[in-house]
Amino acid sequence: MKSQVLIIGGGISGLSTAWWLAQRGISVEIWESGSRPGGKIRSHSEAGYLTEDAAALLVNFRPQVDQMISCLGLDEHRQQRNEGLNRYIVHHDRLTPVPMLLPALLTSSLWSLPAKLRLMAEPFVPKGAHTGETVSEFIRRRLGQEVLDTAMDAFVSGTLASDPDLAEAQSVLPRLTTLEQRYGSLTMGMFINKVIKRRRANNADTFSFDNGMEQLIQALVQTPGIRLRTSAKALRIQQVKRGWRVQGKIGGLPADLQVPQLILSTPADISSQLLEETDTTLSGLLADIEYAPVGVVHLGLNSNHIQHKLDGTGFLVAKHNSLPVNGNLWMSSLFPHRAPPGKTLLSSYIGGMRHPDQLQQDDETLAGAVLDSLRPLMKIEGDADFISIRRHPRGLPLYHGQYRARLAQIATCLQTLPCLQLNANYIGGVSVRERIYQGKCTAQAVTGNLKQSNSISHP
Ligand SMILES: Cc1cc2nc3c(=O)[nH]c(=O)nc-3n(C[C@H](O)[C@H](O)[C@H](O)COP(=O)(O)OP(=O)(O)OC[C@H]3O[C@@H](n4cnc5c(N)ncnc54)[C@H](O)[C@@H]3O)c2cc1C
Repeated sequence: MKSQVLIIGGGISGLSTAWWLAQRGISVEIWESGSRPGGKIRSHSEAGYLTEDAAALLVNFRPQVDQMISCLGLDEHRQQRNEGLNRYIVHHDRLTPVPMLLPALLTSSLWSLPAKLRLMAEPFVPKGAHTGETVSEFIRRRLGQEVLDTAMDAFVSGTLASDPDLAEAQSVLPRLTTLEQRYGSLTMGMFINKVIKRRRANNADTFSFDNGMEQLIQALVQTPGIRLRTSAKALRIQQVKRGWRVQGKIGGLPADLQVPQLILSTPADISSQLLEETDTTLSGLLADIEYAPVGVVHLGLNSNHIQHKLDGTGFLVAKHNSLPVNGNLWMSSLFPHRAPPGKTLLSSYIGGMRHPDQLQQDDETLAGAVLDSLRPLMKIEGDADFISIRRHPRGLPLYHGQYRARLAQIATCLQTLPCLQLNANYIGGVSVRERIYQGKCTAQAVTGNLKQSNSISHP
């Protein structure tokens, strides 16, 4: 049977869109240029360690994610994050727990007394109407400079590889900016949501799977109705009378396909190249989206060589610390079976806007620098007996500048290109959670288009 939809790109964005379409009985073909699906997401089982190339966990508060995981039969393979773990920030070269409750906040050494008072005054800060504000401007205005430097800079640099002075608040922190707009205050908004249990966001669920994040990918590609073609590279797309013509190579041989609906789930630079012939404005808007280089350094160590009790999820790094890592996940504290018995797996995130040239260092230099920086923090002796390094030169899109305005311009261009959707991590959030959610939104739009075109051709 001919597919009604072709998706170019078999990462989580493309696969999750395909899954939502398949649930609606719509047949989908995916062209993935690599030899395997999953894009950046890939899990490796090596020497008893389970490591991740990119996403290591899902932080979820969206029911759509739970729905997909249940339907895929993955509930019994979910590995919940171990309970009661601290979150740490490296502050003045020390691991300091992030206070999660008010009493801990009052005694925490993370912030000075004036900063704590400023934080508690947040409900009284007038609501702003500051569209286009950067993360730094937004957090400084609502919570003060110290919270920005210590916590938010660490979060934006460590989890998004971004720069809070350049990242747009509404694009990067949509829940916080919405709380301000809806309730006038972040604190009040969180409190009200907690009391009326409107959102699970305050209590996000953190998990992975028995075989790592790739287990989700493997389950998605087995969905009936999804035809995945690997080593299938799209080279040219053209708008035709009833949809799109796509030319490329599958397994090295020329391929040519016409489909009613086309979805580009490729990174922005690839989508830009594919669209060059069709719409130079749209192609230019996509080409200008910046990406940060990101890498992961996995180190396996003897647990008895580490004095720190590793009672946390890992750490982020506050501004003004000279560490060569942006964040570190204590994978064997987070989830079971990530390291062999008696061993510990530490995964460090490097590069990003803080250290953009770092990925160019060779493996030995990188592993040495990372281990040397962890030694004093966690009191580590001896060397790593397992080292694995992954580099992503274009790791994460940066939602910098007037990003929402750019997305609005992209949306305007798309209005003149019916039957084409863009869905990848440069729109609507980089996390796996948001990719799954955006997949559903794209599938809804495509379903609507298909219904409309059917009713036009068969009145
Ligand atoms: C180091 C790192 C750590 C991360 N950690 C987390 C985390 O813990 N939790 C979380 O939620 N998120 C995390 N993320 C983010 C998340 O992993 C990514 O945002 C997400 O996987 C991107 O999915 P995607 O499908 O949009 O893009 P990609 O995974 O890049 O997929 C795009 C696909 O398009 C294919 N392609 C390209 N050109 C063509 C072509 N011409 N024809 C056909 N196919 C083509 C590529 O081969 C690729 O498979 C992390 C990201 C990185 C880099």
